[in-house]
Amino acid sequence: MELFIIFPKLPVAAIAFYPFILLKRKEYKEDKVLINHEKIHHQQQLELLLIPFYILYLLNYTFNLLRFRSHKQAYLNIAFEKEAFANEHDLFYLKIRKTFSSFRWLNA
Ligand SMILES: [Zn+2]
Repeated sequence: MELFIIFPKLPVAAIAFYPFILLKRKEYKEDKVLINHEKIHHQQQLELLLIPFYILYLLNYTFNLLRFRSHKQAYLNIAFEKEAFANEHDLFYLKIRKTFSSFRWLNA
């Protein structure tokens, strides 16, 4: 059961902050792929005990920004995002996902 917060000023469609999912529009609650993507982030956040997740997310982004010199490439190449984008269409992914799967995406 997800806790949704509708926040129209959100600069993106959705952000996951366990246990919340912030959505720009309430209709996005029905977007199964988007919600699955955010739930994958919830799992990543939980297994890293929340705060370390945000630190690693930011470190990975910063490293990528130096490497790619592009916000979009830096974001898309964060290991947590790579795992979420690669599996968001698989609505059963979270049932079979192994703990710390994100780290397999670091050099992928
Ligand atoms: Zn994401």
